[in-house]
Amino acid sequence: MSFAELGLSDKVQQAVASAGYTEPTPIQAQAIPHVLARKDVLGIAQTGTGKTAAFTLPMLTLLEHGRARARMPRTLILEPTRELAAQVEDNFDKYGINHKLSVALLIGGVSFGDQDAKITRGVDVLIATPGRLLDHFERGKLLLTGVELLVIDEADRMLDMGFIPDIERIVKLVPFTRQTLFFSATMPPEIQRLADAFLHNPVKVEVARAASTAATITQRLVATGRQDFEKRETLRGLIRNATDLQNAVVFCNRKRDVAVLHRSLQKHGFGAVALHGDMDQHARMAALDSFRSGEMPILVASDVAARGLDIPTVSHVFNYDIPHHAEDYVHRIGRTGRAGRAGQAFTLVGPGDEKSLSAIEKLITTPIEWEGPTLAELPPSEGSSRRGGRGEERSSRSRKVKVRSGGDRQRSKSDDAAEEAAPRREAAPAPQQEETRRPRPERERERDRQSSRGNQNRSRRDDDDAPVKGMGDHMPAFLMRPVTIKKS
Ligand code: AMP
Repeated sequence: MSFAELGLSDKVQQAVASAGYTEPTPIQAQAIPHVLARKDVLGIAQTGTGKTAAFTLPMLTLLEHGRARARMPRTLILEPTRELAAQVEDNFDKYGINHKLSVALLIGGVSFGDQDAKITRGVDVLIATPGRLLDHFERGKLLLTGVELLVIDEADRMLDMGFIPDIERIVKLVPFTRQTLFFSATMPPEIQRLADAFLHNPVKVEVARAASTAATITQRLVATGRQDFEKRETLRGLIRNATDLQNAVVFCNRKRDVAVLHRSLQKHGFGAVALHGDMDQHARMAALDSFRSGEMPILVASDVAARGLDIPTVSHVFNYDIPHHAEDYVHRIGRTGRAGRAGQAFTLVGPGDEKSLSAIEKLITTPIEWEGPTLAELPPSEGSSRRGGRGEERSSRSRKVKVRSGGDRQRSKSDDAAEEAAPRREAAPAPQQEETRRPRPERERERDRQSSRGNQNRSRRDDDDAPVKGMGDHMPAFLMRPVTIKKS
């Protein structure tokens, strides 16, 4: 199958050829003709399958007719995170090179002024995160009654992040007669309910089972001790001994562990950046840019921050923590082995992780091989001493990759133990300091929004380390209503 057979316009086909793509991916081949035929589409596909182009390419073709009107975007794409929204914008830049379309990005952490000005001039494509879109709408600067095509991307991710009430509100603001494209990696019942509500006679396209992992990924388990300093040591050993390591994403379950691990790797001389939910937009983009450019070969990330990011050439994924939810394992290791490339995924498994491991193996329907001794075979722990499965002191082999930046000092176990005992605030990375420079009201609004939206599925978020007392940070709306006191 070639792109020419899909019905895309010449301009789009030329741009696709310039991007170097010769053949549509399965999701593109299946979805594009239906989108061009103005049908609603329910796409079940993960990132890495080429699904972004599956909607951007036909949208560009459709948008060649007609023009944008002031404050009335013609199409709307909803994305769960700022990074994903920015990636979709990059896709429009790349494939829309022969078009003169106006594309606007509405994401948090960017000033309203520039975004307002763009919307006022009129946009063909509006790409937004739900919260920021509603903020603009409430300010009266945006009309959604001209939206001809709505894309809801990463719907299961939206559910995880508590955005569904916002999405339902937005859908009520766009015309009923619109065309809707709805993408999700998985179809739990709640997502199916939304798909039923939002789509009219949709064509269902599905490219891979949600629980499947790419055959090009070599997956291995690595036994390690329970203590964090032991896990960090095991991880360092793995990174140093990895074969063909170009760059790596290291996943932690909680954002505070992202911060601690990032700092530890930096202290050990590794070129690492962090990505987690507390970082502001500028810091996230800076971290991602330095990782993408290869300046920093290691990205330490939480699931929420990293899911869906398009980083095409990741050679290794390390699960510093075994994910609590088996499907997160599939998403994490999907960062590597993309587009037919080879990839390696290592998962640290310590005492107490057995249940999570069996849930993963059940989901992917294959046992994962151990690299070195299994957990049961590890020598017994000598008090708090190390039980690193493939830890540093076991690895006498010379390093195969240059993943370290300056200051390649040897650190003692007590350094790590001290780091573990250090107050959390000290362990926080520089990006958190940038957060404090943002204007106060905006920061607080963002937090309010996060806390009021995050009540659904809280346990799945990466920022719920502490138990919530009472209503937590959430301020119920009725308490904020102005009160009129009648004069007697
Ligand atoms: P996505 O699933 O949209 O995140 O895309 C994953 C990666 O596949 C991106 O780096 C795209 O640039 C790339 N890609 C998209 N379409 C094609 C294609 N037809 N052939 C090869 N690579 C593609």
